Amino acid sequence: MKIDCPVCECKNSMIVITKTENIPYFGEIMESTAKCHDCGYKHSDIMCLEQKEPVRYELKVDKSNLNARVIRSQSATISIPELGLKVEPGPRSQGYVSNVEGVLTRFHDAVITAMNLVEDEQSKENASNILKELERVKNGEDTVTVIVEDPFGHSIIIHEDALKRKLTLEEIKNLKTGFTVFENE
Ligand SMILES: [Zn+2]
Repeated sequence: MKIDCPVCECKNSMIVITKTENIPYFGEIMESTAKCHDCGYKHSDIMCLEQKEPVRYELKVDKSNLNARVIRSQSATISIPELGLKVEPGPRSQGYVSNVEGVLTRFHDAVITAMNLVEDEQSKENASNILKELERVKNGEDTVTVIVEDPFGHSIIIHEDALKRKLTLEEIKNLKTGFTVFENE
């Protein structure tokens, strides 16, 4: 399928590839990836084809579970509290299928992007400390906690060490969904 690029507005320049996959203990998902041939803009998203409960997964990351599978839908908030890192749903957030190491890499890239935008030395130093810490975790020299919260339940960390529980109403209210949600009065 070809669509117009939302960034460079080039006609039919984005090729969209979709594939469905059955994930054990989770269900059927549809992964779509779109790339613009003109400007290189990329977007990916995950859609879960089943109704799910709001969930929260928490995993203490160490060397043994870096390859645990992670599915992050566009509605999920993913955070590493020890490093003060959080990615919330929004128009630019992407859904993806990866593993814990891949999630750390995405945070790493996001910190580098942020680092290039800030001017003051203190912020640059903070960012560079976070990068070092992420490297140590990837090398198995340190641990952090990865938390995935999804009010639509379309995300998962697949590992026996991952703690799963239902999100409370209070938690759901405090999460961004990336969508316009109309609350029932
Ligand atoms: Zn484009």
